[in-house]
Amino acid sequence: MFDSGEFLPEERVNKLLAEYKSTLAANDSIRQQLHIRLTCWNLPAETPEQLNAAVDYANEYLKIYSQPSPSLIQVDLQYCKAWYLHYLNKNNVLFDDLNTAIENAYLLEDPRLIADGRSIRGTILSYKGHFSAALEDLIKAQNLYDTLNTPYWANVNLGELANTYRRFGDAKTALKYQLKIEQYYRKNKQLFAATQINTDIAYSLEELGQYQQAIDRFKQSHAFWLNEKEPAAAANMSVNIGGNLIKLRRFTQAQKQLEQAEKFITSNNNGSYGYLNLYLAEVHHQLGQHKIALTYTQKAQSAFRESENTRGLNQALMLTSTIYEALAQWSDAYYSLSAYVDSHLALDKQSISDRNAEMQTRFDTNKIQSENEWLVQRDKDKEQQLQILQRNEQMQIIIIVLVAIILAIVSVFAYRQVMRKQQFKALALTDELTNLSNRRDTYTQGQRFLKTAKQSGKPFSIISFDADHFKKVNDNLGHEIGDKVLIKLASICSSMMRETDVVGRVGGEEFLILLPNIDKQQAIDIATRLIDTIANYDWCQISPNLVQTVSAGVASYSNETELSPLLLKADKALYSAKAAGRNCVKAE
Ligand code: GH3
Ligand code: MG
Ligand code: MG
Repeated sequence: MFDSGEFLPEERVNKLLAEYKSTLAANDSIRQQLHIRLTCWNLPAETPEQLNAAVDYANEYLKIYSQPSPSLIQVDLQYCKAWYLHYLNKNNVLFDDLNTAIENAYLLEDPRLIADGRSIRGTILSYKGHFSAALEDLIKAQNLYDTLNTPYWANVNLGELANTYRRFGDAKTALKYQLKIEQYYRKNKQLFAATQINTDIAYSLEELGQYQQAIDRFKQSHAFWLNEKEPAAAANMSVNIGGNLIKLRRFTQAQKQLEQAEKFITSNNNGSYGYLNLYLAEVHHQLGQHKIALTYTQKAQSAFRESENTRGLNQALMLTSTIYEALAQWSDAYYSLSAYVDSHLALDKQSISDRNAEMQTRFDTNKIQSENEWLVQRDKDKEQQLQILQRNEQMQIIIIVLVAIILAIVSVFAYRQVMRKQQFKALALTDELTNLSNRRDTYTQGQRFLKTAKQSGKPFSIISFDADHFKKVNDNLGHEIGDKVLIKLASICSSMMRETDVVGRVGGEEFLILLPNIDKQQAIDIATRLIDTIANYDWCQISPNLVQTVSAGVASYSNETELSPLLLKADKALYSAKAAGRNCVKAE
């Protein structure tokens, strides 16, 4: 936005800068420096106090960024400072630093900074009347801006080139450029810039003797600045209107305009102070108030001397002489006229050398252009290197992503493998038909319970139970019904036991129940409840007329070191139960 050339009011500038600053990371020194540069260029710069504060701002940061090797921020701050010094009319003190800054811009090989520096220097040189040097700078900057594709700044610079032509006495060429620039700004709705070029056009028209048209243009600019609440800028336009009214010999109207402007223009704020006093002197002189006219012309002279404006000074000297003549102060008139002649001759001499230099500058343009191309090429090369680096970065990202994908795939496979292993393990410990623990797992857990009982001294019992006459079920009703009966026996038994008990299928139609913390009597009660439940179950749901009972043998832990003697005891008890007619419980 700052570079687009759009006119931003002060509050908008401050808001944008504050917003920008708030987004900056503490370690983002590149953007922090850019923030400082932008701030410097956008400080308020209307009053001398504000201009001095702006110079102080630049100096403050120049102290921080005054490394031995030049940097972008250092160069830009020098430009910024030079620009404010120019507005303070301190043109004589700014050139050393500005020249060094431009040299540094070349060392940094930064085409944009070179263009900016030479445009600024060209503008100031032109203002001072050094047209040849000004043209050299401005043409160089023009070529750079054109190749850098920065249309706004190309046009600002072209405007300064046109101004230089006008001051040089070639208002026609100036006007040709200015009308072109004006069209561009109006088309892009850049009203601020369009107003500035409108003012420049008015100066050219004035130079060409088209005073009424010049006045109309100045009035347009005047209205714009009033609307923008910039009274000092508006007052500058009033001074110009006054000057043109004098040319049209409308003196009282001119006086009104100038006295209006006088309220807003102070001695040190800008170049128009000299012209204000020059025109006021002229008006008073024409209205016969020669004494008052003299005071104004003195002020005009010192203002022009201070700002090194030779053209203005000449006009003031000539007028002073004329006033003295009107007052019949002949010797004063003579001295003023002599001073005018001296100054004019010096200007003529300078004009001749300027003209020669200008010719050279025009012939030099080719050379400058090839130099520009070289700089731009340098820039492109750097950009290409950057692109290559960026591409490498992209490759790295692709590789990282690929590796991540491969890792993910491998992990999925590994995970599946683990899951499958767990499934196999579970399968290896489970009886497929009833989903109970199989023989191996039941015995392993029994061993563990035995060990715990031994350590804790708490009781541990087991129940071994076996389906009665199961062979008959298979033989009479088929193997499939037999399986259903086994599944049912398993589920009845499991549903009756605690979470901590283990029910396992240890043989074809033989089951084992492990009962930790259960003593013999409790186990007998459990076994009794179990065989009753089974006997009372409505087996007809599986097959009509089916009746199924089981027999159970109970055994309890009493200092066995292994599980097998305990199992043997339970089997023995079971055997007794079978022998006792089945569907009953026996204990050992
Ligand atoms: P007892 O009351 O003396 O135990 O008589 P029984 O017929 O139950 O005993 P026996 O040991 O003679 O027969 C056991 C039968 O269990 C033999 C076999 O057909 C049957 N059996 C063993 N495993 C399975 C099985 O997985 N499914 C089916 N349907 N029957 C099985
Ligand atoms: Mg049996
Ligand atoms: Mg059996």
